[in-house]
Amino acid sequence: MAIPTLPLDGGCRCGALRFRINAPPMLTGACHCTGCQRMTGSAFSLTVTVPGEGFTVTKGEPAIGGLHGEVRHHHCPHCLSWVFTRPPEGPMTFVNVRATMLDDPGWFVPFVESYTSEMLPWAATPATHRYAEFPPMEDYPALIAEYQNRPDPGKACPPERRETMDNQGPTSGLTPHIAIADKRASEAIDFYKKAFGATELTRIPADDGVRLMHAHLTINGASLMMHDEFPEYVSEPSGKPDGVTLHLQVDDADAWFQRAVDAGASVVMPLDDMFWGDRYGQVKDPFGHQWSIGTPIKGDTK
Ligand SMILES: [Zn+2]
Ligand SMILES: [Zn+2]
Repeated sequence: MAIPTLPLDGGCRCGALRFRINAPPMLTGACHCTGCQRMTGSAFSLTVTVPGEGFTVTKGEPAIGGLHGEVRHHHCPHCLSWVFTRPPEGPMTFVNVRATMLDDPGWFVPFVESYTSEMLPWAATPATHRYAEFPPMEDYPALIAEYQNRPDPGKACPPERRETMDNQGPTSGLTPHIAIADKRASEAIDFYKKAFGATELTRIPADDGVRLMHAHLTINGASLMMHDEFPEYVSEPSGKPDGVTLHLQVDDADAWFQRAVDAGASVVMPLDDMFWGDRYGQVKDPFGHQWSIGTPIKGDTK
């Protein structure tokens, strides 16, 4: 369902606390956890996740409620409605607004539902993605990208952004989504442009101003998604890329191979005529990811 035009206004039950959303929602969700059941007095909570800078309290002074822990649940001080939640202090600022606080929640559909392990037996929602607990942190970039790229991105997006989304893809298939170590995802985009003729479609910076939450390129007509590593959100650091090769089937393996090497890729397997009928070789990029390049051998192969 189309999102109504920005801004989106809303407020608590009594009207003492009002807010405005000025940025397109990143994600929508429903949470079945018992905490949300108690906080809402109902079966699940409904969330619209918006970028921190796109959310403003326009009236009243919220009071902290819930467990008063690291996650800050903001309530109306008078009617005590749970209006919005801010995550613990960290590099990513976003606000989880309770969808039913919107003056017009008619467009809202949860895209991700969490904590189905604690769900009341009859309380399923039409969410596209279901998780027994919260989605793992590393799933968020892809969930956000998929939500942004859903068939009807809505009117909430400003025109310049809408055009990017319309061209964003992929809407099906299988797409490699790689993590770049050492805060070098922006550098990697530049490298992939030089080495493989990549086209940049999307680049979403994290709030630390250095790393990227998400980026989407096309190379050789196909999508490649990537993001920086966020070790603070996962229990263990990612290892070196290993065991995965990104294959490029191209029209001229020699030219593609040479361009990649000229850009700074190191040769893993020199280009050669292989027994299976391809001219084929492998390189490693400066970020540790391995690529293979192949072209069917043309003409007489002796
Ligand atoms: Zn109120
Ligand atoms: Zn919950």
